[in-house]
Amino acid sequence: METKYVYFFGGGTADGKAELKDILGGKGANLAEMSRMGILVPPGFTITSDVCNLYFHNNKSYLKELEHQIGESLAKIEKLMGAKFGDEGNPLLLSVRSGSRVSMPGMMDTILNVGLNEDTVCGLAKHTNNERFAYDSYRRFIQMYGKIVMGMQGEIFAKLLEGKKGERGLTLDTELSTDDLKDLIERMKSKIKEVTGKECPSDPYVQLWGAISAVFQSWNTPRAIAYREANSIPQEWGTAVNIQTMVFGNMGTESGTGVVFSRNPSTGERRLFGEFMLNAQGEDIVAGIRTPQPISALAELMPRCYQELSDISQRLERHFKDLQDIEFTIQDGKLWILQTRAGKRTAQAGVKIAIDMAREKLISRKEALRYIAPEDIEKLLHPTLDPTAEKEVVAKGLPASPGVASGKIIFDPEELAQLARKGGDDFILVRSKTSADDFPGIRAAAGVLTTTGGITSHAAVVTRGMGKTCIVGASGISISDVREEFIVGNRIFRKGDYITLDGTEGEVLLGKLPVITPKPSRDFEELLVWTDLAKRLKVMANADTPQDAKLARDFGAEGVGLCRTEHMFFQPDRIDHFRRVIIAEESGAKEKALEELLLIQRTDFGQIFAQMEGLPVTIRLLDPPLHEFLPPPHAEDELKALSQRLGIPFGKLQEKVTELHESNPMLGHRGCRLGITSPEIYQIQVRAIMEAACELSKNGVRVFPEIMLPLIAHVGELKFLRELVVNTCAKVKMEKEAEGLAYKVGIMIELPRAALIADELAKFADFFSFGTNDLTQMALGISRDDAGTFMPSYLKRAILRLDPFISLDEKGVGELIKIAVQRGRKTKPDLKIGVCGEHGGDPKSIEFFHKVGLDYVSCSPYRVPVARLTAARIALELTT
Ligand code: ADP
Ligand code: MG
Ligand code: MG
Repeated sequence: METKYVYFFGGGTADGKAELKDILGGKGANLAEMSRMGILVPPGFTITSDVCNLYFHNNKSYLKELEHQIGESLAKIEKLMGAKFGDEGNPLLLSVRSGSRVSMPGMMDTILNVGLNEDTVCGLAKHTNNERFAYDSYRRFIQMYGKIVMGMQGEIFAKLLEGKKGERGLTLDTELSTDDLKDLIERMKSKIKEVTGKECPSDPYVQLWGAISAVFQSWNTPRAIAYREANSIPQEWGTAVNIQTMVFGNMGTESGTGVVFSRNPSTGERRLFGEFMLNAQGEDIVAGIRTPQPISALAELMPRCYQELSDISQRLERHFKDLQDIEFTIQDGKLWILQTRAGKRTAQAGVKIAIDMAREKLISRKEALRYIAPEDIEKLLHPTLDPTAEKEVVAKGLPASPGVASGKIIFDPEELAQLARKGGDDFILVRSKTSADDFPGIRAAAGVLTTTGGITSHAAVVTRGMGKTCIVGASGISISDVREEFIVGNRIFRKGDYITLDGTEGEVLLGKLPVITPKPSRDFEELLVWTDLAKRLKVMANADTPQDAKLARDFGAEGVGLCRTEHMFFQPDRIDHFRRVIIAEESGAKEKALEELLLIQRTDFGQIFAQMEGLPVTIRLLDPPLHEFLPPPHAEDELKALSQRLGIPFGKLQEKVTELHESNPMLGHRGCRLGITSPEIYQIQVRAIMEAACELSKNGVRVFPEIMLPLIAHVGELKFLRELVVNTCAKVKMEKEAEGLAYKVGIMIELPRAALIADELAKFADFFSFGTNDLTQMALGISRDDAGTFMPSYLKRAILRLDPFISLDEKGVGELIKIAVQRGRKTKPDLKIGVCGEHGGDPKSIEFFHKVGLDYVSCSPYRVPVARLTAARIALELTT
């Protein structure tokens, strides 16, 4: 039997169906499906996308079978329509439409009214008793065929049309008389001859084959190829071609054409949405010649058609179980459906539609998760620019952290923190780059703009974690710190001037622009609850303060997976206490400072536990090297001020600061090493945690403290510190008479050695948490803060496909994780294992963590919804 290349549809039957989208394209497959459903579609047939590939493979020629199969289908159409292709009495006219597997908007072509020539146009005029309509259709055909098949520039025809209207003093196309149109057609034809040297063909079959070839060739235009590259659409898919009986929306005032959505694609509201135009063909709406009317007006003009359209729209939605985007044409009061497909929608509408469809029992609650892309969730939660605002782009940079923020320019982070404390205004921190010292300023800023650095630079990483808008690497801006201004081109921006950052686009905008802040809706919260139906991974949050913890819980976090205690010290009114702990030497002073810290931390921990009632809270003991809390040795002014505040001689302070200086702090005196050398700091932290927990627990609040030790590499470290923790906890529990309170002691796995000896470590740890930021740094030997200088080259040259600080390096770091999971669970089969690095919020990495059997991921509060949805979709085996 010969291969089937042509699939007929129409008259309530079809060879094809929706499932054959891969060879029929989306348009063809759904036309077939609608015909099977008994919905009125103009009869036609689809040439498969295989033919497209054969066409190019065979040097732009066709197989014999094709001609024969097309002939058969054409005969079926002619029989159904009672008209004949090329017939002078009652000519059948066709449209030739492209249609690939996925929609490539505006990339490929469609030719309407194929089959018209000097003879058939007369037949059409007589048969429809509407000469003007016939010549209008002919004029449209010459125009489209000339442009798409013969390669004429569209503007040439537009000029001729305008010229004619000008001569006659008319404004609308519809005002042209039959004679005007006839004259225009002649002018267009001779223009084609003049430009291309060829006649516009009059043989209907020559026209048909010309149109088919043009559609195939539109698959391979440079812009279509570029579009597919950009959207990862395989080049070898090819396009199908749909050849279909023409229906006419331009036959008079009982005719028209339009597009409707089964629900509102921007709000999700369940109501027919769309527009239409009377006495027009499809392309008129797109061309914007006249303004279409809202679809509600059709209810008054043609109530029967409106009702039918709205019924069909609902039927299609029930059938395809998704929002439908539908093209229709009304010819003399009769409604024809020309296309249906899943409608594009905003993130907001996406969430609402998925939830509503589940409530309407159109889909299951699990299925609803399929409709929302995790990236859309992110968009939903970040402020966006009011689309009606007029914006002026001042400079461009890398979109490091999404959202929109407006505020006054400030260059000094300390000054910014002070100004922000006064309240009443928002500020944008503008700096060449940021470092750990700038944290208070970053925290207080509405947004951060840097002129250097990449999307893994300090500013980028820190702001993403905080859900704060950030643009980095805006290299067109040059900052003068002395003059407190920055210059772009010939423009000067001074301290206090307003700018707006669009972190989603990477655009620095002039002035203060209106912003829309979305709130998680009721619907959205409900959707997050549904993710529990599917997901296996728990999603916890990285939260350092009670405020973060509250936010995390609002966003659906199932506990705190990482609370970085040192972030509590960075606040201006607290840091001096900690500095005293580090520096004070005379007995008494250190103890007193430790007491102060105990009070501060106990209050913070208590509030975090309360926010997370009933859920685990994982607290990491002090991690960064001590010098991060002190000014650098060369900052004399700062040191002087500090020595006065602390009452410590300047020389002594300077000595201490120099002593703490390290040449490679990342590999230096940090993490659990601090706990070994300064056990009193860890002791006080553990005491603060346990005192807070015991107190709340006695008041009936359910608390689940988990104490986490950073940077463990040796069993000896773990044994020593575990004992310290256990003894301290035992003491506190006895003092507080809360013996029953359970807690856990676990470790971070962030050194390759720890991963390799996970079986030994598991003997003394109740849980593991992969610190994938450090683990990546340590496994790759790359400092994250310095990667910005060479990472872009690595990515550009495809030495690395993805930035390993954003998406986990599965081959290397992932292997260490697999080893640690396997060895750890060999010792303790039910060992709780999670991840708390930035990767915990990255969809692709989450997929990996799911597969290697982790129990939870922990990420910044703003990423919790994304992670929950991703975890659910992975469990449902939907790809990320
Ligand atoms: P696109 O994929 O760019 O939307 P289409 O193939 O859907 O291209 O066609 C472009 C326009 O032509 C649409 O407005 C469509 O409704 C109209 N059209 C296509 N085929 C026909 C037909 N057989 N009769 C009337 N209008 C048609
Ligand atoms: Mg279309
Ligand atoms: Mg770490």
